[in-house]
Amino acid sequence: MSSPTGTEDLRALAERAGRDLEDASAQEIMAWAARAFGRRLCVTSSMEDAVVAHLASTALPGVDVVFLDTGYHFPETIGTRDAVDAVMDVNVITLTPRQSVAEQDAEYGPRLHDRDPDLCCALRKVAPLNEGLAGYDAWATGLRRDESPTRAGTPVVAFDEKRGKVKISPIARWSQEDVEQYAAEHGVLTNPLLMDGYGSVGCAPCTRRLLAGEDARAGRWAGLGKTECGIHA
Ligand code: SF4
Repeated sequence: MSSPTGTEDLRALAERAGRDLEDASAQEIMAWAARAFGRRLCVTSSMEDAVVAHLASTALPGVDVVFLDTGYHFPETIGTRDAVDAVMDVNVITLTPRQSVAEQDAEYGPRLHDRDPDLCCALRKVAPLNEGLAGYDAWATGLRRDESPTRAGTPVVAFDEKRGKVKISPIARWSQEDVEQYAAEHGVLTNPLLMDGYGSVGCAPCTRRLLAGEDARAGRWAGLGKTECGIHA
């Protein structure tokens, strides 16, 4: 496949692939992405699990896996990142915000995440990701339609208008059971917090264990009226 070069090429490619690959398997979607973008493709991972990183590394060995180290992660998440880096055929790239937590506290006051989580996420997640994605034409994510109502319409491939890149969600149609089955079959690393009552793993101050009957992301920013960090908005 010839390489797409401009925004219009990427948008047309994404729109066509979104239609053509809607019923394709996650493996077929990642194989298409590897053929279409090669090293201009990366995976972003929160290190909740390494399922999409595994799918991508199978299609594109040595693929870049981008992790946002906000400075607020659970030790288990950093440990999962390090284990992924050690055992998988991927190139883990850790992005950090411009300010350390201490520098942010000095400028904005402590615990910005409690007072203005949107600003905290903008500074510690969205800005570093936008800078980190600059060298890629496409990024793959682990978004799933069953995670929350806000993710129910996630396309398998779409054009990310904000960043001018192709956004690939190869497991958009998967259920939590599909993820667990794939991880078990392929020996894929998962964050140990998923076995400790957490349904979704984000920054420690903004993540709690699930209560009975809650959907997977209900433990994120609980009580703050916030459901997404802004990366996928
Ligand atoms: Fe800040 Fe919480 Fe967003 Fe992490 S999830 S960047 S701590 S507001």
